[in-house]
Amino acid sequence: MWTLPHKEERDKMIIAREKPFEEILSMIEGFKSLLIVGCAGCTAICLAGGQREVDRLKNEIKLMRKKINNPIQLQGYTVERQCESYFLSDLDNISAKFDAILSLGCGAGVQFIAEHYPEKIVLPALNTLFIGVNRDIGLYEENCRSCGDCKLAYTGGICPVTRCAKSIFNGPCGGSKNGMCEVDNSVPCAWCEIYERLKSQNRLHLMYKIHPSVQWKNQKAGFLIQKGFEKKYSHENS
Ligand code: SF4
Ligand code: SF4
Repeated sequence: MWTLPHKEERDKMIIAREKPFEEILSMIEGFKSLLIVGCAGCTAICLAGGQREVDRLKNEIKLMRKKINNPIQLQGYTVERQCESYFLSDLDNISAKFDAILSLGCGAGVQFIAEHYPEKIVLPALNTLFIGVNRDIGLYEENCRSCGDCKLAYTGGICPVTRCAKSIFNGPCGGSKNGMCEVDNSVPCAWCEIYERLKSQNRLHLMYKIHPSVQWKNQKAGFLIQKGFEKKYSHENS
């Protein structure tokens, strides 16, 4: 288990990692031209999908395709954020010239580009891993799985879904030993941490509050209209 360096200012973001190079090569196998699109948002910050990674990947693909005598025309371009229509319009003119788009955005960014250019083949170059924080350069920690029913108010600000191996809302499970998790004894038990945090805040009574289990079977693709925007988007649900 790694040790946390220090508690510096935290940046929350979506964390992603580049797919194995062989997988990327196989996805783009039949194409003669490819637009590689980076994102200057989350995936750039976690060093997976910014301009630097676009340039590196472009060079690696170019070299490999040259080596196997199957050259490919490549261009790299990084948009401010792949999850915002406004910034995607940067690609309107460029994308038409290419067989396919390889996105270095998160899963949402890839899907948004695909929706924006439905006639285009859009491929993901990254595996989107989690919502997390930046602990240090190149070191990221998962903090939230977007469960849709946040319990942080009752758990001292520690997420039981992400940090507990069983993602239980009412813990601990009974297997915790010396403050460590029974599933992996090199990892602290989330519920012991929750207990300690609540104790230090003099709020231990919250440990007795019973929360209904998460109904994962009811999970579906999320859609949100923020408070104050109901009227503007009412047609979406009508
Ligand atoms: S309980 Fe955990 S997974 Fe659910 S929304 Fe809150 S932080 Fe995210
Ligand atoms: S020991 Fe703690 S962290 Fe591990 S599964 Fe049980 S409650 Fe969750």
